[in-house]
Amino acid sequence: MKVLKFGGSSVAKPERIKGVVDILKAYYSRGDRFTVVFSAFGGVTDALIEMSTLAAKGDETYTKILADFCQRHVAAATELLKGDLLNQVIPELENNNEVLKNLLYGIFLVREASPRTLDYVLSFGERSSAFIIAFALKQAGIDASYLDARKVIKTDSSFGSAKVDFELSYEKIKEYYVQNPEIQIVTGFVGSTKGGLTTTLGRGGSDYTAALLAAGLNAQSIEIWTDVDGMMTADPRLSSNARIIPHISYHEAMELSHFGAKVIYPPTIQPVMSKNIPVWIKNTFAPSDHGTIISSTPNREQGAPGNIVSGISSINNIVLITLEGSGMIGIPGFSRRLFEALSQEKINVILITQSSSEHSISVAIEGAMAVKARQAVDHAFANEITLQKVEPLKVEEGLSIVALVGENMRNHTGISGRMFSAMGRNGINIRAIAQGSSE
Ligand code: ASP
Repeated sequence: MKVLKFGGSSVAKPERIKGVVDILKAYYSRGDRFTVVFSAFGGVTDALIEMSTLAAKGDETYTKILADFCQRHVAAATELLKGDLLNQVIPELENNNEVLKNLLYGIFLVREASPRTLDYVLSFGERSSAFIIAFALKQAGIDASYLDARKVIKTDSSFGSAKVDFELSYEKIKEYYVQNPEIQIVTGFVGSTKGGLTTTLGRGGSDYTAALLAAGLNAQSIEIWTDVDGMMTADPRLSSNARIIPHISYHEAMELSHFGAKVIYPPTIQPVMSKNIPVWIKNTFAPSDHGTIISSTPNREQGAPGNIVSGISSINNIVLITLEGSGMIGIPGFSRRLFEALSQEKINVILITQSSSEHSISVAIEGAMAVKARQAVDHAFANEITLQKVEPLKVEEGLSIVALVGENMRNHTGISGRMFSAMGRNGINIRAIAQGSSE
């Protein structure tokens, strides 16, 4: 069994969906067993968020975006399907559109879109796209059927970025696939709580859906079909000599994607890594290109020669917050309180360094969280600040994190020296450094 996933840009327009149908026809005629996960049509999730936000503000222009949504799906179905199949799909879509319309009107009336309601609204994107495409595949002669992932992916109720109950989900996935042997066309991104409420797995979560299915089915591999050629050694918009990485390890892929390479949604790696299932990143627009294979034993020979460093990535708009003061030295508990203050405000920590003198701890966070962080930390240490044991939080804005990633670095000396020289030669001031002990 293979699990394939196609992202929003691969299905943004009916012509593109036809291209995807061709790719899948080839799999089908080879007799491969597979299941396919789809994202919402390109731009639809953002449009659903916008509709909800406008409706919650009492702004009636949400109805215009809603009308585009309804029209776009009906038009795609009409272009892709004929006869009986079209007649089956249109009433379903219209019904769904009506529910969405009522839901948004509800948001408009109460002027509120809670994360729980928003997840339900967002599910309309994937439910519409996968439903239409399942029928397009049937029309192409593939024995396909539509699966709403809410039936098999079970989560807690952290709406917006729900935590998956792996055991229960794997059990449900296995059971469903045994009972439904035809090719399942699955909605990405969505899940449901045990009580049946709709949840989502975080933006970009359809990759994660594919990984969960692969782990549940002990699949032989997963293929993430997207609009780029694979993971690259650097951001091609920033570096003209960025190259495709043909083979990369799970850990490297995870590091690169955490540090800004947007090819794969970071949580995707965990379920497949624990079952040793390789992940292929493929380009829908260049299906015969090699792409990137993520596995536990990347075949470096076939990769770029001498690739000690697999890739470089970066995140902009970073803020470095620093807690410092002589009152911290040798006293346990300061870092715990710092991180507790941040976590209570749901501020994600991206990088941590502590000076060995224990005089300061610096933490990199997203720029948008700076104000919240300052309030939370200054409040948590109000006493110590009054007693001048620590200083009020220092916040430095407008920074970037640059990450050099490569498992082979641990066997080589001088890599960080070269990195720092390159930065220095280019007048880049380094504010903080962190190296994983995995090197
Ligand atoms: N449609 C969702 C999003 O745009 C999930 C996905 O495409 O992976 O975030």
